[in-house]
Amino acid sequence: MQNRNSKVDGSTSASLVQNGMLGDVYRDVLRLFQGTDPLREAMQQPFFQDEFVIATDAHKLVCFKKELLKNIDFESHPKAPNALAVIPTEGIVDIDLDVNALIKGISKSNKAVAKRYKVVECECPDCDGSGFVDYVFEDHKRKKHEIEETCPTCENETDFTMITEIETGNDIEGFQELIKIHNSLFDVNHFEKMIETAEMLNVITIKITNKRSDTSIHKFVVGECTICLVPVTNFDDCDVVTNIA
Ligand SMILES: [Zn+2]
Repeated sequence: MQNRNSKVDGSTSASLVQNGMLGDVYRDVLRLFQGTDPLREAMQQPFFQDEFVIATDAHKLVCFKKELLKNIDFESHPKAPNALAVIPTEGIVDIDLDVNALIKGISKSNKAVAKRYKVVECECPDCDGSGFVDYVFEDHKRKKHEIEETCPTCENETDFTMITEIETGNDIEGFQELIKIHNSLFDVNHFEKMIETAEMLNVITIKITNKRSDTSIHKFVVGECTICLVPVTNFDDCDVVTNIA
C-alpha cells in the first residue's frame, strides 16, 4: 500500500509504473505536459478531442488515443484549445533519435551550464526576501512620505536566483539552456519531459516525423504518443547551446 500512496505524489519508482503494476502510466504522461499557468485555466488539465486525449501548456503537447487511459479523473474544459489543428501533418521527415544518446546529451548540456554559470538560490538582496521595499518622498515642506511597494528586483517572487557568469564575475538576468537537435533549438526543460515519457513507456527510439522548417513545430513519435515541441527562436549570447544530435 505504501507504493500506491507514493504514486499519488508522483514518487513511484519508474520500474513499477513501467511494469503496469501500479497506477496509470498514460495519466502520468499527461501530467508532464499539462499547464500550470493559472491564467490559462483551460490547459490546467487534459482534454479530449475526437478519439484522442491531449495535454498541453502551449510550449509542449502530448496526444494519444484515449482508450490507453485506465481511468479518467478530469473533464475537458469548455474552452480547451483545438489542439489537433496544431499538430503538423506537412514537412514529412524520418529522423530516429536514440533515447540513451539524448540522455547523455542533456547531461553534457547540464555540465556546460554548470561550467559557465553559478546559480544560487538566495534571498533577494534588495528586500531581504520580504518582497516589499519602502519608497520615501520628501515634499516642499521637508515632510517625508513613505510608501511600501512590491520590490522591483524580485517582483515578490519567493524564489530568487542569483546567476553569475563564472568567467567574468558578472551577474546576469537569466539564460536559457538550449539543446540543438538537427539544427533546431529546444528548451531543455520542455525536451526533458519527452525523454521522461520515453523512459516511462520503455521507448528506446524517438522519431521526428514532421517539421516544415527548423523553427516550426516539430512532431515526435514516442511509442503510442505524439509529442509536439516548439523550437526556440529567440536567443542571445547569454544562452547555453549544446549540440546533442
Ligand atoms: Zn526583492
